[in-house]
Amino acid sequence: MMIAYDKQPHIRQRLLQAYHKDKLAHAYLFYGKSGVGKLEVAKWFAKLLFCKQVGETGACLTCSVCKRIDLGDFPDVDIIQPDGASIKVEQVRQLKESTHYSSLENKRKVYILNHVDTMSISAANSLLKFLEEPEQDIYFLLLTEHKDKVLQTIQSRCQLIPFVSISSTIIEKNLIDRSVPSHLAKWISLLTQDSQQALEWAESDTFFEFHQAMLHWAKLLCENDVTSFVYVQTTLAPFIQDKALAFVGLDIVSLYMRDVMLSAFDVSNVHFKHKSMGHQEGFSTKDMFLFIAKAKERLYANVSAQVCYETLSIDIVRL
Ligand SMILES: [Zn+2]
Repeated sequence: MMIAYDKQPHIRQRLLQAYHKDKLAHAYLFYGKSGVGKLEVAKWFAKLLFCKQVGETGACLTCSVCKRIDLGDFPDVDIIQPDGASIKVEQVRQLKESTHYSSLENKRKVYILNHVDTMSISAANSLLKFLEEPEQDIYFLLLTEHKDKVLQTIQSRCQLIPFVSISSTIIEKNLIDRSVPSHLAKWISLLTQDSQQALEWAESDTFFEFHQAMLHWAKLLCENDVTSFVYVQTTLAPFIQDKALAFVGLDIVSLYMRDVMLSAFDVSNVHFKHKSMGHQEGFSTKDMFLFIAKAKERLYANVSAQVCYETLSIDIVRL
């Protein structure tokens, strides 16, 4: 799957300049929301350090070294993910040990630690010592969505690089450029900030059917239609077995209701115009949003998606 475009060109440019001037830092903290390209840029950085054909725009991206880094199959680039809920001290110890396996002098190593905010205290302290005694050719790329949860002492040893969110307008335009129907492109751009995810959804028949079904369900809910309860079982259930889709589905309902609410006030800021305007008497979108938030909490708490959706339907239609 091709990515829609190079994420974060400014950050790549900045790192590339530092590389060409031989002014790279040995530790970076990449921070920003999910889907903004932190891991992609980290891998791109690693390629820059190992590819034998670096040009003006960076590594070649096509040689066997570049490809192996992409696949996580290159021995001198380690990508550390949380083991369960956290990065554990043993994982950091293993990193330290692996630096001694280098057979060549000054051999380069790149360590990418994803979700570095999840480090246990002991892991963080162990990493800190590692960062305090920098070896010449070791590079650390620490990635996080929650910079405030990363120890200040670790932050102070890193060059901080903020990753800004990719705007929905850019994602939408990119999808339209790829012949995705504009209505669907707009919807997808409001549901994800991850350009790759956006493209996958745009090309997926399942996602299209799911989206249609969710819109129908949102309409039933807004029309106070009791069949919305049964619709969960008859139509939505197979889709929302995928928990990620179950969350997206609730976002679709939220966005739909947002537009229904705004349309009622004749606000020009609506994303989509919907015909359904049921629930006139005593219609409270505020309550609806509360119920959707509750449904999300239940999903987080591992209640089955079907039960969450059915409960939501009861909550709303009972209004
Ligand atoms: Zn290469």
